[in-house]
Amino acid sequence: MTQSVLVIDDSPDIHQLLAVRLKPEGLELHHVHAAEAGLARVGELQPDLVLLDVDMPGLDGFAVCERLKADPRTVGIPVIFLTGSSDVESKVRGFEVGGVDYVTKPFEPAELRARVRAALKTKRFQDLLSSRANVDALTSLWNRAYFERRLNDELAAATRYGRVVSLVFIDVDHFKKLNDGFGHPFGDQVLTRIGELLWANARETDAPCRYGGEELATILTETPLEGAVVAAERIRQGIAQLGLSQRGAPVPVSASFGVASTELAPGHAWSTTELIQSADGALYAAKRGGRDRVCVASATESP
Ligand code: GH3
Ligand code: MG
Ligand code: MG
Repeated sequence: MTQSVLVIDDSPDIHQLLAVRLKPEGLELHHVHAAEAGLARVGELQPDLVLLDVDMPGLDGFAVCERLKADPRTVGIPVIFLTGSSDVESKVRGFEVGGVDYVTKPFEPAELRARVRAALKTKRFQDLLSSRANVDALTSLWNRAYFERRLNDELAAATRYGRVVSLVFIDVDHFKKLNDGFGHPFGDQVLTRIGELLWANARETDAPCRYGGEELATILTETPLEGAVVAAERIRQGIAQLGLSQRGAPVPVSASFGVASTELAPGHAWSTTELIQSADGALYAAKRGGRDRVCVASATESP
């Protein structure tokens, strides 16, 4: 993906020069000509790198950088200073306020490009790591921490805009027996395959997650209860047809499903706990009813 760079400098000449010098890098360049406007723009744009002039009227570049590093929304964005002075003190100051590098004017084109490239490479790696922090390593589904955050955000948006959010809870049936009978690695394989199935059945607006152990969940945004039940039923059939085998014999795998939706109590400001409890209650009913089935939470038990 194309990385974006925001240049904050009060000199139009510098903007022009940087545009020419950085053209071969194939970056998405954005330009701001004043410090305050630059601060606001970094927040909105969330660029991969900021090239920041030190000498500007009003706030200088060091002050801008300090503010960026004090804000959780911009703290992870690397800053390279554009400085006219090559004295040690100002270089050191740049690092102290959180800059990752500096380039001195007039720019040495190859050096400028090399420094920009290095900062962007590190940023890409950081992004990769932070995205992994939200993903479960075994199943490649979103992890529990992400699930909680996402459901909370979606419910807040649902309340604000009158949208519907549905939740499907999934628990593999007699999973302990699969582990005990065929070994833990086989159990892991079952979870991995189900993870693939959840991704294959997910829409772009769905968030398939590993809630914990062999309990999985999918958040379906802007999806009414009926649609969530159809999705759950499709996944249930997919799991039943996984076709796994051990020692030459087929091993049937199934899962139970509990579906809940904010639609069950329209106008209610659903909390994550309420929607989870609702889906969990339906899941329990599916287990009690004989497993390998989809059960729906009832409106009477909803808040
Ligand atoms: P039920 O049909 O009632 O859900 O029965 P169950 O055996 O699936 O239920 P239970 O919750 O008692 O067992 C879950 C088991 O899942 C216990 C635990 O050892 C196993 N488990 C949890 N996480 C993992 C994992 O990452 N890999 C493997 N292989 N097993 C796991
Ligand atoms: Mg369980
Ligand atoms: Mg289970």
